[in-house]
Amino acid sequence: MAYKVRFVDPAKNYRMIKDEIDAAYFEVMSKGDLIDRGQLKRFEENLAAFVGVKYAVGLNSGYDALHMSLRAAGIGAGDEVIVPSHTFVASASAIVNVGARPVLVDVGKDFNIDVEKIESAITPKTRGIMPVHLSGYMADMVRVMNIAEKYRLVVVEDACQSLGSSMLGRRAGSWGLTGCWSFYPFKILGGYGDGGAITTNDPEVALFATRMRYNGEDRQSGEYHGHGFTCLLDNLQAAFLDIKLAHLPRWIVRRKEIAERYRAGLSDLPDLLLPHYNDPRRDHVYQNYVVRSKQGDAFSDYLKENGIEVLIQFRKPYYRHEALKLEDSGFPETEALSREVCSLPMNVELEDAEVDYVIRTVRAFYGK
Ligand SMILES: *Cc1c(COP(=O)(O)O)cnc(C)c1O
Repeated sequence: MAYKVRFVDPAKNYRMIKDEIDAAYFEVMSKGDLIDRGQLKRFEENLAAFVGVKYAVGLNSGYDALHMSLRAAGIGAGDEVIVPSHTFVASASAIVNVGARPVLVDVGKDFNIDVEKIESAITPKTRGIMPVHLSGYMADMVRVMNIAEKYRLVVVEDACQSLGSSMLGRRAGSWGLTGCWSFYPFKILGGYGDGGAITTNDPEVALFATRMRYNGEDRQSGEYHGHGFTCLLDNLQAAFLDIKLAHLPRWIVRRKEIAERYRAGLSDLPDLLLPHYNDPRRDHVYQNYVVRSKQGDAFSDYLKENGIEVLIQFRKPYYRHEALKLEDSGFPETEALSREVCSLPMNVELEDAEVDYVIRTVRAFYGK
């Protein structure tokens, strides 16, 4: 079906910055700069500066960033890591794949880990907390860091959905031991394929990741410093991402404008909960505009039938997927929101007229 309003429109986004992207492509290709060259280094420097940390290390994916961070922290067999029950599955998979056990904690009304429930999940085996900043809005990192300090826990921020967001003026990904980033095409900073990074202020973590992403090798001396991985961010992707990073501040402004347009057009509907929270310390960059409709599938189906491409993340919580062998110890908020979530189109390619069409369609569903 041809949608009237696309959830994201990567081809249109490319047309918006085509001259810059094409120039970067020709430069990289004509020089043959494919692996670990200047474009990667430049992007890492610019990303670190944007997040407000000393180091950024480009990796293959957000998953790799999470996995690498847990490895760098020495977390493994016998350890427990606290993670929210509502997140993308990769957060928990990274914990399982280093041999540790994810301990799930329910989320609050803002879709992020409920900080009131963290302490009761801590056991003598707990080594870390992995808060996830979902949809462009940070978890309450002031509370998370206080708890981590009190119990001497490592904090790995899954910031994959929240590049550019902040709390008390301090950016996501600059609070924990590492911030983990994904440049999957549909993230707020998306490449043209997979990509990721960690950000950190810890020189040893940065060095560890720089070696381990390249099979453990020190590229200067040729010495192997451990059994590593192959998960280096491609130089070509880094060149593209660096261009898009320069546009990001402006694109975030546009996302906030669209969110305000949705708010103005939809906030009077009692069965619809919008993602606007009143915590003046935190700002929302709207990687996703996730509403909760009491009508669940009937709501999202109606939008699709009317030509609006929406995303449902996630009807079935990840811990309910049997093969993952995770414990469902009861997560009422996750269960409730899973029945109701629906992400409306949110991207910088959207025209105001398209946003207005979404608003009219939602209002029509509610008979307004
Ligand atoms: C996208 C995402 C990841 C994984 O990123 P990939 O680059 O796809 O591996 C992890 N956590 C969250 C919250 C994400 O949104």
